Amino acid sequence: MLSGITKLLKSLANFLYINKCIVCNKNAENFLCSECKKQINYLSPYPIKIYKKVPVYCCSIYEASIKKLIKSLKFYRKKHSSTVLSKILFEYFSKLNIGKNFVIIYPPAFFSKNIRRGYCHMELIAKEFQKLTDFEIEKKLIKKIKYTKPQYKVRNRKKNIEGSFAVNKNLIQKYKNSSVLLLDDITTSGATIENITDILLEAGISDITCLVIAKAGN
Ligand SMILES: [Zn+2]
Repeated sequence: MLSGITKLLKSLANFLYINKCIVCNKNAENFLCSECKKQINYLSPYPIKIYKKVPVYCCSIYEASIKKLIKSLKFYRKKHSSTVLSKILFEYFSKLNIGKNFVIIYPPAFFSKNIRRGYCHMELIAKEFQKLTDFEIEKKLIKKIKYTKPQYKVRNRKKNIEGSFAVNKNLIQKYKNSSVLLLDDITTSGATIENITDILLEAGISDITCLVIAKAGN
């Protein structure tokens, strides 16, 4: 009887989303089929930009499969997209051969946004990335202190993001000599990662590396 119920639940779960490609909905193991994986254009393992001596690495372009995966995580509550995205990110990150023992941080969302979505999508990505790298995560080093409009909705992104993040003063001493890996999902103008880099540098945390999943056009 119990195994019958288990089987039924499993097939129901399979029917709903397990073993389905998040991008095209065809059968696929680990949520991404080989066809959709092929559509991912990995960028070269060099920084796309150096900002105040901080390298900014970017894994791919915000298009096709990557775009659908990020959107499904941010807007359609497909939390398991974070597993796929972090694997893609890790594949790229491994090619960089940086060899540092990083502390992972990410731009936190304003709490009301997390309540609406039910989770912080960057926290999920960071947690999955942590499983693959064994790095530490520090989710309290950066605080979101002001609500901002989504970056893609505003023209002056730099101004929109100004003053919206702060470094947690109680943790500066702990991480002063750490290598910080700042993860983000999309970079367009670079305003978010540059703003967080600015406040970290101001706080005296200088060993920073940025790693972004996708680069979007303006
Ligand atoms: Zn697919």
